[in-house]
Amino acid sequence: MANVQTKCEIRCLYCGKWFPSPIQFGDAESFFSSELIGNRVNCPFCGHMTGCNKENMRFVERRADGRITYVEGKDAI
Ligand SMILES: [Zn+2]
Repeated sequence: MANVQTKCEIRCLYCGKWFPSPIQFGDAESFFSSELIGNRVNCPFCGHMTGCNKENMRFVERRADGRITYVEGKDAI
């Protein structure tokens, strides 16, 4: 069983806030090969549609010991 939880987040290009991606993936590779790239999602904070690209995405990894690391989308692959 994996002891790392990975969550994908998107940064709104309008208000700059991070919010969870509407679609979650187990790892960065499956995310960036998915169809979500280049799509637009609705920001829950300001209501704008913002694009999903490597530049404004990151992965949040929560490890078993409680440490949290961030992997920026543009560095993920
Ligand atoms: Zn926003």
